[in-house]
Amino acid sequence: MTSQKVREQFLNFFKNKEHKIVPSAPMVMKNDPTLLFTNAGMNQFKEYFLGNTKPTFKRASDTQKCLRVSGKHNDLEEVGKDTYHHTMFEMLGNWSFGDYFKKEAIAWAWELLTEVYKIDKDCLYVTVFEGSEDADQLAMDKEAYDFWKAIVPEERILMGNKKDNFWEMGDQGPCGPCSEIHVDIRSAEEKAKTPGAELVNMDHPQVVEIWNLVFIQYNRKANGQLENLPEKHVDTGMGFERLCMVLQGVQSNYDTDVFTPLIREIEAITESKYGKNEETDIAIRVIADHVRAVAFAIADGQLPSNTGAGYVIRRILRRAIRYGFTFLDTKEPFIYRLVNTLASQMGAAFPELKNQQQLIENVIKEEENSFLSTLEQGLVLLDSVMKSAKDKKVDGDKAFELYDTFGFPIDLTALILEEKGFALDTEGFEQALQAQKARSRAASEISKGDWTVLEQDTEQEFIGYDALEAQVKVVKYRKVTTKKEGDRYQLVFNPTPFYAEGGGQVGDKGYLEAANGDVTYILDTKKENNEIVHFAENLPADLAGTFKAVVDKKQRQRTASNHTATHLLHQALREILGTHVEQKGSAVHSKHLRFDFSHFAKVTPEELEAVEQFVNARIAGQIPLEENRNVPVKQALEAGAMALFGEKYGDTVRTIKFGNSIELCGGTHVQNTSEIWHFKITSEGAVAAGIRRIEAITSDAVKAFYQENDATLSDIKGLLNKAKDPVKAVADLQDENAQLRKQVEQLLKEKAKGLKSELLNEVTNVNGVDFLAKQVDLDATGIKDLLFEMGANKDNLFVLLAADKDGKALLSCYISKELAKAKELNAGQIVRELGKYIQGGGGGQPFFATAGGKNPAGIPEALDKVKEYLN
Ligand code: ATP
Ligand code: MG
Repeated sequence: MTSQKVREQFLNFFKNKEHKIVPSAPMVMKNDPTLLFTNAGMNQFKEYFLGNTKPTFKRASDTQKCLRVSGKHNDLEEVGKDTYHHTMFEMLGNWSFGDYFKKEAIAWAWELLTEVYKIDKDCLYVTVFEGSEDADQLAMDKEAYDFWKAIVPEERILMGNKKDNFWEMGDQGPCGPCSEIHVDIRSAEEKAKTPGAELVNMDHPQVVEIWNLVFIQYNRKANGQLENLPEKHVDTGMGFERLCMVLQGVQSNYDTDVFTPLIREIEAITESKYGKNEETDIAIRVIADHVRAVAFAIADGQLPSNTGAGYVIRRILRRAIRYGFTFLDTKEPFIYRLVNTLASQMGAAFPELKNQQQLIENVIKEEENSFLSTLEQGLVLLDSVMKSAKDKKVDGDKAFELYDTFGFPIDLTALILEEKGFALDTEGFEQALQAQKARSRAASEISKGDWTVLEQDTEQEFIGYDALEAQVKVVKYRKVTTKKEGDRYQLVFNPTPFYAEGGGQVGDKGYLEAANGDVTYILDTKKENNEIVHFAENLPADLAGTFKAVVDKKQRQRTASNHTATHLLHQALREILGTHVEQKGSAVHSKHLRFDFSHFAKVTPEELEAVEQFVNARIAGQIPLEENRNVPVKQALEAGAMALFGEKYGDTVRTIKFGNSIELCGGTHVQNTSEIWHFKITSEGAVAAGIRRIEAITSDAVKAFYQENDATLSDIKGLLNKAKDPVKAVADLQDENAQLRKQVEQLLKEKAKGLKSELLNEVTNVNGVDFLAKQVDLDATGIKDLLFEMGANKDNLFVLLAADKDGKALLSCYISKELAKAKELNAGQIVRELGKYIQGGGGGQPFFATAGGKNPAGIPEALDKVKEYLN
């Protein structure tokens, strides 16, 4: 059964059981401070389990793009080494939000696996939570056990401990027991040797967990106690690639059609063979796996970078490059060439790969190029480290420097050193690494207290599109401490007019005013689990009663102006550069805006001007805002609204329309484009291969910009004696300057000519040689030119000129070539020897040489001693 079909049948099965099939949420998290990447199917439904939002449907199913490379779930180091963990994988799942529970979840899972997919029942084992003796004193999950017993022979039902079979989202919140389904795909012979039941949860590559059914029935409270939830939920996750392995009768995820096309392509490009040698195989698996993770991340809008999620992506790609470099001997970029295979194989299920193929290829190729050159430089550095190493031992600090400053991976250092017979002080490296980690931890140390809940079960309402002030009640708060800012408080209040950071737009600032007039400043606003959290400078003294919540109006207006301008800029770019332009990120602040977009060339000054004009024409056109809330997403897209890749949209969306610019957007905007006043681009440049960035300003910032320019201009006019036409005045100055420069050059030439004839007059005959030794006031080049001019057409000249330039002594010796030959004189040797008088040295050729020294007081002696060479 092809993987495509496996996915299809899963979704069809649950569709027939009245589940709503939802799209995968983006793999890169945008608005969740607790997670960089989606690591499980349930992430996008967290707010439903927490009760912050009520779902509009009771049952859902999907395939979710997951990435497990950071935080609580990090499988990175296993990937490639084993055959069933990936960085990026698809998690098939079905959910019940307060609807069906254990009975149906268990029965349906079994039905799907054994009747639809027809997996041999004798290969399957299930686990049930055995209960716990700890503080929770949980009973075994008898319910689940009984449901399983009705359909599965008892010897295939195994008991599992709290670590494997009790699932918790975090320190607090919804949790419950789970049942896992494991599959044993060993040969009959192997099975006869060891019973499968003994290998479940033992990290055996052919006895693996494929599906986890979580029964959410408790809430873990801040004090550590569990309470029963009024609503019970089901959350399941099945590894798609593992399921394909089972259904395609192969022993490794990499032997399924999810991976084989990629592996064939790697073999062809690198002229290697999969399945012959363990080292090569690991490298091929790493590359086949990592290209997926990186390509999906870029398609979701996350480019490799130096911080946060971007850094994680960069590290994954570098790991792949390094495995290729070391084990497949790839010295040229090649991973980007796999994107085509990936896009044709997965593009049907995930169209973002196909739509953005070119961009993904460009970005990967540029990263490969730059890291390969880092590797090359690192190799050179490593060579010199080895040369200076004592007793063939490289110390940890040196290896750490290579790693930290040049990004040269430690395992590569270790490998090369080992090959060359050098030892590496790994302990020293580890110490240096830990010390650095401790330093950065100390810098960002943060502690979060528990939420103190004042009002239970409130669903928070955001009213900030219509109001900037409201009477509100504080629902809950917690203390947050950071090194940088000290104690701060996070408040949730309801309703709230404060816009939370999102969609590129900054969060609102403002204040809360208590009934007695006390004011608490709100410094920022962010979203967490779909709740709007306000960052307060301090905790209001009395939290009871109502507060007046006031948003900083000026900042909001300026931000809105920049946000609307961003939409118009987006429209302008697509109009002027072409529809290949896609938004790749934006930052809307009160002072400026930034817009990143795909485009493969520099935007020319003419194009930039056209873009500015386009936007300013729409500002002058006084276009009113047409805002529509709760539009069905399909209808919005049909109306031509621009949606972004990697953005999660609900069933209904908000559309923002200014004339022909329509975008799905949750941000705040001006009521009429005329409020923007004016749009001015301040810079254009590249951010990555194929991604450009425009920065611009609007409204008050443009006024400030022009005022500043105006002030500069009047300063310039002042300097130009109040010239009426400063441009002409500056041009005149430049002309005059050029003329004066010419005159100076002419004068200098004439001066040199005069000096030349003067000096030639002073030449005397010493032992048949035309000789002169003298101190002059010229620099090194002046002296050199002068000497060569004096020497022209002369075959018997010997001159030593000295100079004292800024406390440094200079000697220049010139001897006619014929004379040097005839008398075996060598100017180079002469200045070297005379150099001792001026405490310096030098050299050159037999007919011309110079020396420099730090003792000008020695010049007379040098000039005197030179005569001795003529004796
Ligand atoms: P394992 O113990 O094998 O790492 P897990 O307990 O971490 O699995 P869950 O968090 O329960 O797994 O995830 C649900 C399902 O997702 C698993 O049953 C498995 O089929 C699949 N899965 C988990 N991690 C990975 C991974 N790194 N690569 C591929 N599939 C995975
Ligand atoms: Mg795991």
